[in-house]
Amino acid sequence: MSDCIFCNIVSGAFSSATIYENDEFKVILDRFPANEGHVLILVKEHVANLFEIDPDKAGRLFRLAALIAREMKTRLGFEHMNVMQNNGTIAGQTVFHFHLHLIPRYENDGIQIHYQPLELTDAQIEAMRKKLEMQL
Ligand code: 5GP
Ligand code: ZN
Repeated sequence: MSDCIFCNIVSGAFSSATIYENDEFKVILDRFPANEGHVLILVKEHVANLFEIDPDKAGRLFRLAALIAREMKTRLGFEHMNVMQNNGTIAGQTVFHFHLHLIPRYENDGIQIHYQPLELTDAQIEAMRKKLEMQL
């Protein structure tokens, strides 16, 4: 995918501030961070999003996220973190190559990452549960 920013970062054609790399993933600093120390875990293979990634690879990615998050916490001294992953334009995805955001949170940092919850009845919750109940 020669026109994909993250494919170019993975291949080294575009530069990036890389903090870790293995055969499947590349971990870089976000160039336009939401907060100090905002990290992106990129999947090396070009897949657009969660609907395309191999589920086992997604599992290995989340294992790596847990290791990296702890190391970041020790090095940067923050207490809290948002983990974010956008899938599709409506959900706010802007680079269509799978990546996981690790965003450190510092006391009084003023970053806004929240939504207004819907007010649903128990019957509405149950109707949705029935739609989504599954065997995998
Ligand atoms: P998305 O909105 O798709 O979930 O996140 C894309 C992220 O990629 C954004 O946080 C944006 O700041 C970051 N980004 C966009 N272009 C570049 C780039 O060239 N280099 C790096 N390191 N990050 C980028
Ligand atoms: Zn790509």
